[in-house]
Amino acid sequence: MPANSTALHSYFDALFAAYGPQHWWPGRTRFEIIVGAILTQNTSWTSVERAIRNLRTARLLSPNAIRKAPSAKLAQLLRPSGYFRQKTRTLKSFVKFLFDTYDGSLNNLFATPTPHLRDQLLSLRGIGPETADSILLYAGKHPVFVVDAYTRRILERHGLAHPKLSYHQIRKLFESSLPADHQLFNEFHALIVHTGKHFCRKTIPACSRCPLHRFLPPALEPGTIFNDSHGRSPVTSHQSLLALR
Ligand code: SF4
Repeated sequence: MPANSTALHSYFDALFAAYGPQHWWPGRTRFEIIVGAILTQNTSWTSVERAIRNLRTARLLSPNAIRKAPSAKLAQLLRPSGYFRQKTRTLKSFVKFLFDTYDGSLNNLFATPTPHLRDQLLSLRGIGPETADSILLYAGKHPVFVVDAYTRRILERHGLAHPKLSYHQIRKLFESSLPADHQLFNEFHALIVHTGKHFCRKTIPACSRCPLHRFLPPALEPGTIFNDSHGRSPVTSHQSLLALR
């Protein structure tokens, strides 16, 4: 088994043993998960929940209802999530695409092969790689790994990834090291987010209490690594298990 694969399996096992199942993604329907993935950009989940509650109360949590809703009304309801005009445009653009390309059917949408559907989602205004992959994984159960700032920070601090790796390269690191299992990817990403929020903070990480502490290479213990302005590890090529490709 390659070193990356062994390491990532061990990380997953340690995190799952420590926290248990995370039950992601919070959302009652596939469409609600998609809405949440769009609204969560640059804001807290609490703010997203407020906006989703507004949509539910206004009976707008379906593709057809969003399609018919006036943009001004939608923007008002999305206001708690921040960047609400931009998010209104993104939501409108997603449902237009859904109706134009898939007759408004999420079944048809998610029956599309993953690479093609990812390209289609990425072509929509306001949808970047993390949002596209969250939609694919959590709403569509496609086996893609969602990379976020926490994922990058943990890998860099453990010498598993070079700071210059792209989103795509980090996603490939997970996808090529682990079985293509959407449930595993679902759980692993959620566990990483939990770790990032509670232990692997940007400044002053709580390594001694973190379930991943035993995997921290001795040379990268706090005090030697978290002293740059970004709280990031100066990973060198010989330390990184994944060379830049
Ligand atoms: S808090 Fe420390 S041990 Fe935990 S993931 Fe971050 S760097 Fe690793």
